[in-house]
Amino acid sequence: CSVAAVMVSRRVKRRRKWRNVVEILKEFEEGCDTPVGRLRQVVDAMAVEMHAGLASEGGSKLKMLLTYVHDLPNGTEKGTYYALHLGGTYFRILRVHLGGERSYLDVQDVERHPIPSHLMNSTSEVVLFNFLAFSLERFIQKEGNESSSQGVKRELAFTFSFPVKHTSISSGVLIKWTKGFEISEMVGKDIAECLQGALNRRGLDIHVSALVNDTVGALSLGYYHDPDTVVAVVFGTGSNACYLERTDAIIKCQGLLTTSGTMVVNMEWGNFWSSHLPRTAYDIDLDAESSNPNDMGFEKMIAGLYLGDIVRRVILRMSQESDIFGPYSSVFSEPYVLRTNAVSAMHEDDTPELQEVARILKDLGVSDVPLKVRKVVVKICDVVTRRAGRLAAAGIAGILKKIGRDGGGGITSGRSRSEVQMQRRTVVAVEGGLYMNYTMFREYMEEALVEILGEEVRQYVVVKAMEDGSSIGSALLVASLHS
Ligand code: BGC
Repeated sequence: CSVAAVMVSRRVKRRRKWRNVVEILKEFEEGCDTPVGRLRQVVDAMAVEMHAGLASEGGSKLKMLLTYVHDLPNGTEKGTYYALHLGGTYFRILRVHLGGERSYLDVQDVERHPIPSHLMNSTSEVVLFNFLAFSLERFIQKEGNESSSQGVKRELAFTFSFPVKHTSISSGVLIKWTKGFEISEMVGKDIAECLQGALNRRGLDIHVSALVNDTVGALSLGYYHDPDTVVAVVFGTGSNACYLERTDAIIKCQGLLTTSGTMVVNMEWGNFWSSHLPRTAYDIDLDAESSNPNDMGFEKMIAGLYLGDIVRRVILRMSQESDIFGPYSSVFSEPYVLRTNAVSAMHEDDTPELQEVARILKDLGVSDVPLKVRKVVVKICDVVTRRAGRLAAAGIAGILKKIGRDGGGGITSGRSRSEVQMQRRTVVAVEGGLYMNYTMFREYMEEALVEILGEEVRQYVVVKAMEDGSSIGSALLVASLHS
């Protein structure tokens, strides 16, 4: 009789614990809710903040940085140019050869390497730049005698995926680090000068002709192929957007920008904030424990570096309030142990028994997780990624609204079909590993864009993927400066 009583009590406890898990999930799902009404508030807030950031320096959390890029490559460029791209996780080096017509774009020798983690947090920037110069030297040595650049000074674009305050297209100082980088000595230093110095120290005859944010690189490639491209967004380790703005709308620099026309503005939208963003306790903790607390709030909800860690935090809480992950669940206490590529693999696991989820959890050291718990894990991934994709869409719609290319809300908002048809075609170039490799993120984003702007958006907004766009486009931008 006492054995039976013990078993009953265990069952009751197990049920209570499972109820805890279900409640945590429900509460999380509600906290991440993004009905279209809320998304539209985010759209409006984005457009308002863009205006504020253009009106005065420090007028908004959106920095709306000048890039001094007035003209984008148009296909007539000729010659051989290089790009070195320091991203959040990888650095890339490539060479492009251009023949003076769009169809003559030859991208040669793309090298992609993970950035060694000790370089992200070293005490001196010299170590980082020496490493980049060394890598570039090796790249160039491999060209041998066949390179068309032999004997000619090489022109290089430095694609630098961090916020920079530019003083010209080829110079600018680092405002702050993001994405876990922390080399404090470098903040305030001219990035192009640092790289040029390291290249000179190695005796390389290479000139840093342009310092380019990755979004601006993606925009350049987009525009090169299709001049309707006026917005570019990166969804990778970090996230950001840039777009082509009228110089007379950049109020904060009226005295400075005497040339009329347009300039690309680097929004640094990762730092966007609005009370309409659905923020949960997990987001608050992630931010507080990050290397840049109170900073890059939007990025921490939508970018690749963070999605995995939000999922981890929810699992951790569940494992603390139940034993569903068994005795090995302490692995979830380790920050960033769950990467976003693992999240995408679990989320998109289409095996009936969720074997991929089981495998990934096992690789983390958590074995024998029952199917019903694996389903909970997939659901958490879905909630996190759905919110990210939908907020990303709201961000894009906010930019379209600011530049008057949002269709004014579509036919459903009272516009006639012919008015919608008159909307200018707008191409949004998109780049970054999260977008390229995570189908569900991409689908949620595209679906929400239609929800926000109406079905008709499909007729005038085209979202185009730009693989390696940041690096290739930056090289094209340098080419356009020399053509
Ligand atoms: C940086 C941006 C960059 C984005 C995407 C952010 O963390 O601040 O400059 O464009 O990541 O790489």
